[in-house]
Amino acid sequence: MAEKIAGKKENLERLGAPVTSLWGVGTAYAAKLSSVGIETIADLLFYFPRKYLDRSNVVHIGEVKVGEEVTVIGRVSKVESRRTKTHKSILTVTIFDETGYLDGVWFNQDYLKEKFREGMEVAFSGKVEARYGGPQIINPSFDITSEGRESDPLHTQIIVPIYPLTSGITSAGLRKNVKRALAVVKDVEDPLPEGIRERFKLMPFAQSLRQIHFPDSPSSLKKALYRARFEEVFVLEVGLALMKKKHEMSSKGITHSPPGKLISRFLESLPFELTKSQRRVWEEISADMQRGVAMNRLLQGEVGSGKTVVAVMALLLAVEGGYQGAIMAPTEVLAQQHFRRVSEMLSGMPVRVELVTGGTPREILDEIKHGEVEIVIGTHALIQRNVHFKKLGVAVVDEQHRFGVSQRVELGSKGVSPDMLYMSATPIPRTLALTLYGNLDMSVISELPPGRKGVVTVVADEGEREGVLAMVAREIREGKQAFVICPLIEESEKLEAAAAKEEADKLKAIFPNFSIGLLHGQMKSEQKAEVMKGFEAGEIDILISTVVVEVGVDIPNASVMIVENADRFGLAGLHQLRGRIGRGKERGIFVLFSNPTTDEAKARMEAIKRYSDGFSLAEADLRIRGEGSIFGTRQSGMPDLKLTRVPRSFDLIKVAREAAFTLVDDDPFLSRKEHEGLREEVSRRFGESLSWLFRT
Ligand code: ADP
Ligand code: MG
Repeated sequence: MAEKIAGKKENLERLGAPVTSLWGVGTAYAAKLSSVGIETIADLLFYFPRKYLDRSNVVHIGEVKVGEEVTVIGRVSKVESRRTKTHKSILTVTIFDETGYLDGVWFNQDYLKEKFREGMEVAFSGKVEARYGGPQIINPSFDITSEGRESDPLHTQIIVPIYPLTSGITSAGLRKNVKRALAVVKDVEDPLPEGIRERFKLMPFAQSLRQIHFPDSPSSLKKALYRARFEEVFVLEVGLALMKKKHEMSSKGITHSPPGKLISRFLESLPFELTKSQRRVWEEISADMQRGVAMNRLLQGEVGSGKTVVAVMALLLAVEGGYQGAIMAPTEVLAQQHFRRVSEMLSGMPVRVELVTGGTPREILDEIKHGEVEIVIGTHALIQRNVHFKKLGVAVVDEQHRFGVSQRVELGSKGVSPDMLYMSATPIPRTLALTLYGNLDMSVISELPPGRKGVVTVVADEGEREGVLAMVAREIREGKQAFVICPLIEESEKLEAAAAKEEADKLKAIFPNFSIGLLHGQMKSEQKAEVMKGFEAGEIDILISTVVVEVGVDIPNASVMIVENADRFGLAGLHQLRGRIGRGKERGIFVLFSNPTTDEAKARMEAIKRYSDGFSLAEADLRIRGEGSIFGTRQSGMPDLKLTRVPRSFDLIKVAREAAFTLVDDDPFLSRKEHEGLREEVSRRFGESLSWLFRT
């Protein structure tokens, strides 16, 4: 059993102490709390009310009206419990003041009887009902207010908090325990330094928590919530700033030599000119690589904006100086495609490219180890123990959000501080991106290569299916190809595969003269590769696929994509899919079959139709979802924002970020006295990912 809290202890320890260290919280209750994610005192205090009931207006008993929610205070005149014929118990507690009598009535809660005694002063809150004798309240919330009892009211007479609940936890119970936890926090160091608090006019820590749970007024509640949101964002930004600072101070990266013959030969061999954006981000990347600090850069750009070309240039820059380069992709299909395309781009150059997946033969791994292979492209297999590089100079992570932080770090640790380039085709509004990737530098390719005709998006229903199929047939007769994406079935690759097969059979019956291919997650990787090759070569007219094609696949000749049950997809996913077509010189057609039933799904369909550019769409997405989770996964190793609704809080994020980065510039180890509370909070929220900061 954990030690009960008494006297002064380390702040961190106390906020981080298990809830069982609160008086009156046993293991059984703790288990219930744990089911809603409350383990520590801090968790309990940051379990914010869902709403509030204003019971601060206390009235005389004589003034109550039937149907009203009221709070009254009176003395107990009678406590009576009886049983009905059906053995239900009814407890009636009658109270009075100078204006009248009122009954509090409970069914089957006889144990409450012990709490009331004649002459005691109590407060009841609840809805008034009529009874022949006088007014009554069924199941009133109550506080015993007689002297000698808990003096502050918890459930009546104040603005009372109502919490999000699950079974076994009541708001009344939480109120009691939160109150105890608040007593602990009274002398905890404020995580926000005084300077910051003054500058942004923020309520002190303990006061804000108290006001959030037991607000004195709506306006103080508002101030308290603002302070909580500010703190949440600020602490996050401080953590990010610390990571970045640490990287800058400690990393001895590779100083790559400036671009030479390989790069210029590569540029000459391309059948196109780089876009202005591509040239700009290349300047940024190559400058980074030539500096002595290891690069840590995010390269953002729409699907098809030409990120891969730039990434290959980064690999070549490393190769030119005698280093190796690697690209890691999230799926085998994608790794294979990168491999084919990079090999093709580099054919005729003195650079050896190899693919590493689960089944790569030993000899190739040996050659990589001995530096006979310059560029390695692979899946997660790249970070396995048996893969060694002789001299890894740059590592590229494609679709980086599909990897966990630790996987990305592992790829880097295959070399000695190699330059890292993370690529993402999921557009994120800038403010959010700065927060999400606050420890990275950022490059954005903001334009598509010229000559793309774009994609028309059509939202269709069943009635339009025939017309859509006729359109598909026309496109194919003109030599184009089509994708059909089958419905997303959460948690079941098997069902997904079955649905895809069924769809393929249907289309085979409708189009006996077209060649129809099938791709799903249950196929072996060689089979998948075979199908993709066939589609790329134009041997397959229509490819039926589950979302395995979601990322990266590039088939310039595909002009149509049909998505079944499109309302089951998120906007980011749909946008990714849309990026797969219209990559050639012709206009693409993106058809979404959907039957949206919720407002949110309808709004998503509207948005995808309306916005073709990923950044606007990402903002729309945030507006529709309206919140919160920015890191999403646990594996991200970052604390998530719980209180802050991102789209509405861009301004808050901006100012908090600026203040956080300035502070860390000034005090990169948070070692100053006035940053003690902040340091503890950062440690509590970031834990492992910032552990270096807390090692002494
Ligand atoms: P991303 O990785 O951003 O999805 P890719 O690098 O795969 O984009 O490029 C998509 C397609 O556009 C490829 O076929 C590529 O050859 C072509 N491409 C890239 N850059 C240009 C450019 N500047 N002009 C014309 N086509 C380009
Ligand atoms: Mg790509």
